[in-house]
This record gives sequence, C-alpha cells and structure tokens, in this order.
Amino acid sequence: MNNSEVIRLTDENIMQTYSRFPVAVKEGKGATLWDFEGNKYIDFTSGIGVCSVGYGNEKWAEAVYRQALKLQHVSNLYYTEPAAQLAKQLKERTGMSRVFFSNSGAEANEGAIKLARKYSYDRYGEGRSAVVTLVQSFHGRTVTTLAATGQDVFHNYFFPFTEGFRYTPANDIEALDKALGRDVCALMIELIQGEGGVLPLDREFVEAAARLCAERDILLITDEVQTGVGRTGTLFCFMQYGIKPDVCSFAKGIAGGLPFGGFMAGEKCADVLGAGTHASTFGGNPVCAAAALTVLDILSGEELEKVKEKGAYLRKRIAEMNAGCVTAVRGMGMMTGIGVKTPHKEIASKCVENGLLVLTAGKDTVRLLPPLTISYEELDEGLGILRDVLKKA
Ligand SMILES: *Cc1c(COP(=O)(O)O)cnc(C)c1O
Repeated sequence: MNNSEVIRLTDENIMQTYSRFPVAVKEGKGATLWDFEGNKYIDFTSGIGVCSVGYGNEKWAEAVYRQALKLQHVSNLYYTEPAAQLAKQLKERTGMSRVFFSNSGAEANEGAIKLARKYSYDRYGEGRSAVVTLVQSFHGRTVTTLAATGQDVFHNYFFPFTEGFRYTPANDIEALDKALGRDVCALMIELIQGEGGVLPLDREFVEAAARLCAERDILLITDEVQTGVGRTGTLFCFMQYGIKPDVCSFAKGIAGGLPFGGFMAGEKCADVLGAGTHASTFGGNPVCAAAALTVLDILSGEELEKVKEKGAYLRKRIAEMNAGCVTAVRGMGMMTGIGVKTPHKEIASKCVENGLLVLTAGKDTVRLLPPLTISYEELDEGLGILRDVLKKA
C-alpha cells in the first residue's frame, strides 16, 4: 500500500475520534520513522511517551518474540513468571510494596481510585470517598477518569460522570489545605502535568501535599503514566521530589510499545485490594511483562543517567535558538514543553511537513517526548528541523 491508500482505508473504516496528521508510518529504527513512500521522520514523540527504547530495538523484540512463542497468555487464575519478576523489580527499584497490572493508564488510575476508596471505607466507613485532583490535570478517558481530569472541556456529553471528584489549583498550598477535607480519601496528582502543558509542580507544593496527606490519612496517588519509567531521568518522577506516594500509577512507556500499565501501593495500603475486589483479563500479560522487563533492564544505570543529560542538552539547544515565538522552555529529563506564541498546532504541522514529529499540550505548548534511547545524531537532526520551523513561526 502507499500513504494515501492507508489514510483512505483508515478514514473510511475507523471512527473519526482523532484529528490525525497526514502521515502513515510504515516502520522505524531508533528514533527515526519512515512512511510507505520512504519519507523519513525524526521522532520526538515515541508514540506519546510509549516507545521508550525506540523502534526496532533488537533486545526488546527478541524478548517479545521468545515469550510469545513460549506462552502468550493464561488467565490470572494461574501463576506466570514475567509478571512476578517484573513486580519484584518494580518493588526493589521504588521501595513500594505491591503491584497490580492493568493494560492502560486510565485503567491504572481507575484501579488506584478504587484502592483509595476501599482503604478509606475499610478504616472509616462511608462518607469519605471524595478524590481531589488538580486543575489542568489529565487522568484518562473512562467515565471515572474523565471525572478525575481537572479540565472542563472533558466534562461534556457523557453524563452522568462518576461522583466524588473535586479540583484544586496546582501549586496553591492554602487551597489544597482547604480542599483536603474530612470527606476526602485521596489526592491524585501528576508531578509534571503532561497533557495540561508540561507543567512541573513546585517542590514546596508537593512536599506540603505529602505532609497534609500523611497527617490526615489521605492517600497520595501520583499518576506517573507519563512521567514514569525513566521519562524524567529517574525510574519514577517522585524520586526527584523526595517524596514517597502511597500509590503510583504507570503505563505508557512501561512495556516499550505494548499495551501495559498498573499501579504500585506502599506499605500502609498494600493489602487493601484482596481476592475478588479487582481484576483484569489481560492484566499482567506475559508478553507485555517480558517486554517491560527488557525496558527496565535497558533503563538501568548509565542509560537512565543519559536521559537527564540528553534532556538538558535538548532544552539548552532550544533556548539558544532565540526564536521569537518561544516564551518558555521547561521540563525534566526527556519530557520537554516549549511555550509558543504562534498556535502550537501550526508549529506541529510545519514540523511534520519538514520531517519531524512533535506533540502539543495545553493551549500553547509544543511537547517533546523522544524515545529515551535517542542518539545525539538524531537529536541534532531533529533540533535542526525544529530551529528552522521555530525561527519562521
Ligand atoms: C496518557 C495518560 C493517561 C491515560 O492513559 P491511557 O493509556 O491513554 O489510558 C492518564 N494519565 C496521564 C498522566 C497520562 O499522560
């Protein structure tokens, strides 16, 4: 097939829920993609932070292939090795106590919310089920996680949404103190608001949140679906804020491109979800877990350190461009937001036309989430295209 045939077949048959760029991707290697006519794109998106170890990664593909040949799935009525090994590694590398595996970020957050409500119900009974989230947050597309999402644009059409969610502005400690009332079981936050515009939370705010939650026995849930699994230069972003959440969700980058996610619970709430309280048919799938084990293996030691270096390099190079349309450059590790005066979608389209894939976020931000293993050559090639686009925007 050629590009236009793939695009036509898609548009005629798949629901039109995405406003796609006119690019049909055929294959990739490292952080470089090619379409069906051999046009090349440098990828500063890795899906949306999913293909953490790049495309055509031999070690990753080998692990997927081997596990698929051996055992692709059995139900969670039985035991399998990859999920068990993965949970052990996650525990050892985070200090959390137990893990539940899901298939996506929204499901991971949904499970985390269930855990928090049951934790509170078990200890205090009814009337303590409210979950506080932040204005401008994003937590998923299920009816409950849409309710958890602190942006009005997501609260349309699908009424009634799940009850019991309240929103408080990011980085306002006084407002947070008020929001965390006696009816609250959990505070759920993204440490860097991803979809909202790549907005890192202030350290003092996060520290205050951890303290208030601990004092009031409110569970602190960090939604690390986007910031987790090495994206910010540590295995999870909470490690850089010097806090330890009670619950931490993850998905996107965990299995390097296969659908996988989950949430980890700390000591005090590790055993809240007992037999029959939560489940997933595909959760803990052996092929996805084997892929995730390889991702964790690749992202240990030096490779993880390089994420910080490459991220700092990327932001420095962008700041040095002195492009008139750029108002801010922010982020951590390989999660970067560029505030722009020109409409962000226009800039993204121009980048695509010139062979660079980028994302947008919030109202005015170009978002970069390159594969964590991207080479400096690919970074420089992408930066060259980005500079030409930003200079003319
Ligand atoms: C992407 C994202 C989600 C939703 O994940 P899905 O896998 O699309 O369900 C939830 N929270 C955050 C912070 C995200 O970035």
